[in-house]
Formats: sequence, C-alpha cells, structure tokens
Amino acid sequence: MSQTSSMGSTEVLALPERKKERNSSRDFLSVKDVPSRTLSVERKASQQQWNRGNITEGKIPHIRMDNGAAIEEIYTFGRVLGQGSFGLVVEATNKETETKWAIKKVNKEKAGSSAVKLLEREVNILKSVRHEHIIHLEQVFETPKKMYLVMELCEDGELKKILDRKGHFSENETRWIIQSLASAIVYLHNKDIVHRDLKLENIMVKSSFIDANNEMRLNIKVTDFGLAVKKQGRSEAMMQTTCGTPIYMAPEVINAHDYSQQCDIWSIGVIMYMLLCGDPPFMASSEEKLFELIRKGELRFEDPVWDSVSENAKSVLRQLTKVDPAHRITAKELLDSQWLTSPTSHKKATANIVDTCHSTCTSASTSSRLLPADLKGEAEKTPATAGQGTAAKVTAKSTVQPKTKKKL
Ligand code: ADP
Repeated sequence: MSQTSSMGSTEVLALPERKKERNSSRDFLSVKDVPSRTLSVERKASQQQWNRGNITEGKIPHIRMDNGAAIEEIYTFGRVLGQGSFGLVVEATNKETETKWAIKKVNKEKAGSSAVKLLEREVNILKSVRHEHIIHLEQVFETPKKMYLVMELCEDGELKKILDRKGHFSENETRWIIQSLASAIVYLHNKDIVHRDLKLENIMVKSSFIDANNEMRLNIKVTDFGLAVKKQGRSEAMMQTTCGTPIYMAPEVINAHDYSQQCDIWSIGVIMYMLLCGDPPFMASSEEKLFELIRKGELRFEDPVWDSVSENAKSVLRQLTKVDPAHRITAKELLDSQWLTSPTSHKKATANIVDTCHSTCTSASTSSRLLPADLKGEAEKTPATAGQGTAAKVTAKSTVQPKTKKKL
C-alpha cells in the first residue's frame, strides 16, 4: 500500500515503532480508537437508507497493524458474500455499533505483487470518490500479509442475479437504474476516472423495494475499480508526449481528443440493452465473430420484448453504442437526455409496463420490499426472451480482465 496515500485518506500507523509518529499527528488513529470513531459514522449511515450521508468527510482511515487480531475484536465475521479475484468478501458486524459491512479480505502473498498493485489502485480510487451510487469504502486495515477493505454492505447482491431471476426489467425500472448509473459515471468522468470494467456483475444492489405502481426500485452501487484509471490532465499528457517542449509538438497532438472515457458509455449501452431484454446485444459462436458484431455495432430490436420499449429508449441505446467514440453520447448528455428527464416518456413507459409487469414483478400487495430471496421462483424469462440465442454463445462478459487477476 502506498505510504503517501495521496488521495484524501487518513493514513493510520499501528506498528509499535511508529507510535511516536502516531501520537504527534491529529489525523492518525490507533486501532483502539477505531470503534468510537466509526460509531457516529455508522449510525449516520444506517439512518439513511438511500443516501450514504456524510461518512468521514472524505478521509478514509487506513490502519496498519502487525496482525489481524484487532479486526476480530472490532467485527464479528458472518456469511461469505462472494469470492473476489483477490480473496473472499465476508459480511461483518461491528460489535459496538451492530452495523453490518462487507469486508474484502485479501491475502497479499497469494495475490502476488501485480495483483496487489491493482488492488492498491482500486483502494486509492475508492478513497478519492464519494457518490451515492458508488460503493463506499469505510476504512482499510493492513497487516504485512493481509489487506481488509471495509465496504458498505449491499444486502441485495448483484444486479446480474436479480436480472437473471426477473428475465428483464420494464422500461421505467431500467430508466431508474440507468439514471443512477449515469450520475455515478458523470461524477467519475468529471474526476477524470474511467471505470473500464462496467458490467452487470460490477453493479451491486444495496436495497430495493416495489413502489405503488408495482415497479421495482433499486438502489445501485458501482463496484470493482480494479481496472479503473485516473487519466492525466490534457496539458500534463501533452507535455509528456513532447518531453516538455511545445516547439516540437505535432498538430495531431495539439488537436488530439481523448475519448478513452467513452468505453464506459459503450458498456452502459450494453447494460441498458440487457436490462430491457435480458440478453446481451452482441452474441456469437466464436470470439472472432463476436468482435465482428461489436465492430459493426448494429443493435437488433426484433424480439417481441422490444415492442413495449419506446423509440426514445431505442434511440438512446443507439447513441450509447455508436462505434466511433467521438460520436458516442457522453455521460453528461445521457444524464440530460430526454429519455432520462422527460415526464412524457415516463408516462408512456408507465402505460407500457402494465402489459409486461405480470411476468416480471412480484405483487405489491405481498411485499413492499423485494429482496433477492423473494424473487426466487419468479418467472424465469418471458417466452419471448427465453428462446433467444440457443447456440453456444460468446459474450463480451470479461473483455478486459488482466492476466494478473486470479481467484484465491
Ligand atoms: P473482485 O472484484 O475481486 O472479483 P468483488 O469485489 O466483485 O471481487 O467481490 C466478489 C463478490 O463478493 C461479488 O460478486 C459480490 O457477490 C460480493 N460482494 C462484493 N462486494 C460486496 C458488497 N459491498 N456487499 C455485498 N456483497 C459484495
């Protein structure tokens, strides 16, 4: 872990030899201090169902210690939530506050140095962001052998799993998800951060409920910043290209536009398409054929499921998946788009949902809050979508997984 920790974190040293340093700084905490410091923080967080609230004023404690024994004193570890690329993610309850968290445990030795570098990058980026639809990193514990990331708990699991159980979402339900996603991505792009691995599996659901119109409202969180990058500023990048001397600068360098953040927009397009119909927009029997389809970028709306989706939504999908990134809509344009903001399209979609809701929604009278368990046994897929693409499919599921990521 970077000792400099430049991105707004509170570096905490708990090693004996660093005691003197610790006592001399107001910012540094000892492991002993942690429960009382997190107490008010966690209470605040639990009071607000949808907003994360003011957690640590942008300072994420990074606590260094000799071994993990102190963590066992602070938290009771519960069920395993999932297996990450670098280790297990486990539910943990703070003994003092009884607040639940998701703790990602990483064995640094097993992960290897390049994987740890990726993790450090993820941690640094998470320390620097604060958005209601981006997973909140509460604190980091680090021992010579392990790293523990304490993150907000997303009780309702992965969006992908909810989609798999429902078959597809209605246009309104999709709109709310895309609204939250777009606002998170506008925030990241404004900070020159590109996620680069947006996919259904990396969108977690913190909580959900069924509204008065029998529609599912999901509070989503973008996670997994392992492949995210912070771009250099334009002038910084230009100076590097020319080794600091503009007199040698070629015209294409001066004019060069950086569209690298636009890969996130394409991914939003794929996600939106999948939310609306349940299947990926591009599927083929081999990777080669799949890439050919992606390069063409032609969306198909022939399946009957698309009959109840507005032209407006289809037009947004086409703009999100423009092959040329320069012509692709930006995150801000998406957020401001008529489809996301217009009350007319909202009404139209509400009318549409009456037809589709029976196959996809649980009755509001049975439950006002829909947890994944409640979804079990729901209609798997509508007949319209279930038959699609029965041949062996290759999808762009894990397009940019680095070789350094490995399961532990
Ligand atoms: P990695 O990115 O290293 O593959 P993830 O961060 O995706 O690992 O975590 C692995 C799994 O753990 C996820 O698929 C999810 O099921 C679960 N998980 C991760 N973070 C949380 C969280 N904050 N709340 C609940 N479950 C989580």
